[in-house]
Amino acid sequence: MVPELGGTGHGRLPVVVVGAGPYGLATAAWLAAADVTTRVFGEPMESWRTHMPDGMFLKSVPTASSISAPEGGHRFADFRAARGGPPVGDTYPIPVEEFIAYGRWFQERRVPDVERTAVRDVRAADGGFGVTLDSGEEIIAGAVVMAGGLAPYAYSRRASPPTRATTPTSPGSPADGSRSSARASRRWRARPCSTSRAPGPR
Ligand SMILES: Cc1cc2nc3c(=O)[nH]c(=O)nc-3n(C[C@H](O)[C@H](O)[C@H](O)COP(=O)(O)OP(=O)(O)OC[C@H]3O[C@@H](n4cnc5c(N)ncnc54)[C@H](O)[C@@H]3O)c2cc1C
Repeated sequence: MVPELGGTGHGRLPVVVVGAGPYGLATAAWLAAADVTTRVFGEPMESWRTHMPDGMFLKSVPTASSISAPEGGHRFADFRAARGGPPVGDTYPIPVEEFIAYGRWFQERRVPDVERTAVRDVRAADGGFGVTLDSGEEIIAGAVVMAGGLAPYAYSRRASPPTRATTPTSPGSPADGSRSSARASRRWRARPCSTSRAPGPR
């Protein structure tokens, strides 16, 4: 049964998914299978393309590196088979490039309508959530799935001072227990993140 997702009144979208990495894609695939109208935002597999070292191999083994889907045929092994690759065991180290290709393959099949627009702001609104896109578009959603990964939360003391909404120990943060912290926890703002590739082992 599909749960009540904060109501689906006029003009209200049932679900917004923020993020098109492995978790955002899996969530979107399951929501689509449950016939829940959803919009998915993000650059497919962006963290893997821009925040991982060149030449990296995955730490997770092939049987633990599949993206979840309600139907069969979307595991990492299925991707390899579809490309004519021989089956591999769990001692096979997955090159990061191969995992990125798998993620894109999954996205094209299960979540073809990913919108490559960033979400700028999420706030409590109208019994649900107000979502503002980088394009300026405003959406009211019954539920928001945050699958933006860790990159937006990267914090360098020298490079970018934290915002009140994302620093656990700053006044007004969700951890300080004040009334302004409650306000802060009702709002999420995207922080710009670098798209430069991390230096890898040479
Ligand atoms: C060096 C390194 C090695 C790793 N190795 C492994 C491994 O071997 N196996 C493993 O399982 N995990 C590994 N991980 C962890 C891996 O990153 C996570 O398992 C996985 O990527 C998390 O998926 P995710 O969908 O939550 O987030 P991500 O993959 O980070 O995806 C985030 C998505 O959110 C989108 N996004 C972010 N901000 C916004 C915004 N404001 N608006 C719209 N979209 C937004 C991005 O465009 C992207 O599509 C590794 C991580 C690192 C750093």
